[in-house]
Amino acid sequence: MKLSEAIRLGAVMHPQIYRSLRSPLGTCALGAVGFALGCLDSLDTTVDWKSTADFYRVTNKEIGLHICPVCQYTPQPTSDQNRLLIAHLNDDHRWTRECIADWIEIHEIQTEINNPQNSETEISCELQPSSHENSVLKG
Ligand SMILES: [Zn+2]
Repeated sequence: MKLSEAIRLGAVMHPQIYRSLRSPLGTCALGAVGFALGCLDSLDTTVDWKSTADFYRVTNKEIGLHICPVCQYTPQPTSDQNRLLIAHLNDDHRWTRECIADWIEIHEIQTEINNPQNSETEISCELQPSSHENSVLKG
């Protein structure tokens, strides 16, 4: 699952909150990722994560998130860079998680265009009309 997809999926599971990954009231954009990936299954902060491996794998992926599109805030280039920018947009600019996902998706698409061999998406181009199309064309 892509980061943008995980944020969107998690966003429909709980309301948005700020300054915290999760609370009984909901999740931030990163908490949404945790729920979407099945790493978190409770809003109770005393309940441990089921695992963190998928959360870090998805949120660590280099997709060109380097600078805040609003205020030019630029976190140090570390493995936390994506998470810092996402938390910044969620908490400081109060972007909806859907908006954050849209912004990330642009970077994911750009990354796939630049690095097609690393793409998670199979891109195929069917040159022959399908049998269904043939039958329609023949009437
Ligand atoms: Zn900013």
